[in-house]
Amino acid sequence: MKQGVAWDTSSVFKSLRWKLQFFYSTLLATVVLCSGSVFYYQIWVSIFAGVDRGLEAAALYLDVTLRSFPPPIQQGLEAPPMLPPPLRPDGTAPPPHRPRRSREQFLEELRLPQELNIPGINNPRDQPYFMVMTANDMLLKKEFLPSGYSEATSLAGQFNHQPTLILLKNNFREVRMIGPSGSKIIVGKSLRRETDHLRNTAIQFIAIGLAFLVLGVGVSFAIAFRMVRPITQMSATAELLSEKDLSKRLDLNHFDSELAGLAEVLNRLFSRLDASFSRQRQFTADASHELRTPLTVIRSASELALSQQRSPEEYQETIEVSLKAAERMTNLVNGLLALARLDSSNADFHLRQNDLSDLVSESVSLLRAIASEKQISLVSDLHSVQIFGNPESLSRMIDNLINNAIIYNKPGGKVFITLKSHDDKAVLEIKDTGVGISEEHLPFIFERFYRVDKARSRLSGGSGLGLAICKGVIEKHNGTITAQSILGEGTTFQIQLPVWNYSN
Ligand code: ADP
Repeated sequence: MKQGVAWDTSSVFKSLRWKLQFFYSTLLATVVLCSGSVFYYQIWVSIFAGVDRGLEAAALYLDVTLRSFPPPIQQGLEAPPMLPPPLRPDGTAPPPHRPRRSREQFLEELRLPQELNIPGINNPRDQPYFMVMTANDMLLKKEFLPSGYSEATSLAGQFNHQPTLILLKNNFREVRMIGPSGSKIIVGKSLRRETDHLRNTAIQFIAIGLAFLVLGVGVSFAIAFRMVRPITQMSATAELLSEKDLSKRLDLNHFDSELAGLAEVLNRLFSRLDASFSRQRQFTADASHELRTPLTVIRSASELALSQQRSPEEYQETIEVSLKAAERMTNLVNGLLALARLDSSNADFHLRQNDLSDLVSESVSLLRAIASEKQISLVSDLHSVQIFGNPESLSRMIDNLINNAIIYNKPGGKVFITLKSHDDKAVLEIKDTGVGISEEHLPFIFERFYRVDKARSRLSGGSGLGLAICKGVIEKHNGTITAQSILGEGTTFQIQLPVWNYSN
């Protein structure tokens, strides 16, 4: 049935697909953000480093130019008067000096050359500016000072003999230094062009990053969908199979290797479930069948007795037949009850330390009378072995095996019962010289209701549950039971149970 369409956040957090999607998207966003930031930072650094280098070079250039001027010019004074050149040793006058240059002519030389690699120097809008003051803040020269530039702010700052870079409030980068005769040199530049360039770069980065992110989320959605689809398909198929037909299996070729393993596990689970359901069905059918026979006997015997007047002997015979049928039913119900107990939990299965030889010798003495009635002799060779188990169920198992060895024996036959310990195991063998079991039947004798010879088994009151109960009891004690048989010669049952150690 379809669920409601309401957005259920808890199911989103539990969904493998959404978790994968979330993981991929977060990873991608982190990668895009980190790499974008690193790129952006590197571009930022390289742009501003270029500006700084250019400004420093310009300040040093102005410093060198100033140094070539006579000191009075550096101090904002007029050029000193030229003294006439001294006479030559021979008394003749030397050729006259070049005419004296004026202050303005000196200062004309004070400019930023185009060759200086300052970003934007060829663009009038981004033209670097400079200002040179004397030691007592008299303006020597200024050029290209942008509008909105505050000279007072610049002059208020600290000046060093080394070029010092600072960033002004209204996005101007400046270098300041003390030149010759204490003059103050300021070279600066508006960072508008660089910040515009960086803003555009950032916008491009964000756009590319977002495109990557959208693409990545789309791809991760497709990947997550593809990864989860086989699981969804598998659960749908598994549900269909479990509902309709447990005998069908998932086709391993349809799944990737990792999921094929899961499909194989599911197939094995189906097989076990299928086998268990079939056993259950078979068991119910067998149990009903077994109960129906004695019930039919009681019913038909009673109906026959009641159909007309009978003699007391006939009535007695009817009651005897009914009693036998009731006994069979009691046996059967007891057997079913014992199996049900074995199948259930260990809660009422109390274990304690026992000498297995005591339990075996009790069974031997109990069954000796029945054996001798059938001219069968019981030969036992028992060694004391301590085990940890439930004595009632163990005795029942031993009774059953010895009883079978008597029932399925030949007149004058023998039953050998031996008990010894070997390799930390109690080994109990019950060997008879009876009819034996053919090879085709041997693998099935421990199955519930399995009987080799139904007629003979029924005659002896057997229900086909005895060996199944024995196996159940032994498995509950972590032991094993095996049967070997030669048709016409006899059968040997061997039981192995763990020996009880005080260190256990
Ligand atoms: P049942 O109650 O019919 O004896 P069991 O479960 O005890 O049922 O035995 C299953 C079948 O195994 C029997 O029907 C019988 O044919 C065969 N079987 C068991 N024990 C022996 C034995 N000692 N010798 C020959 N056949 C045996």
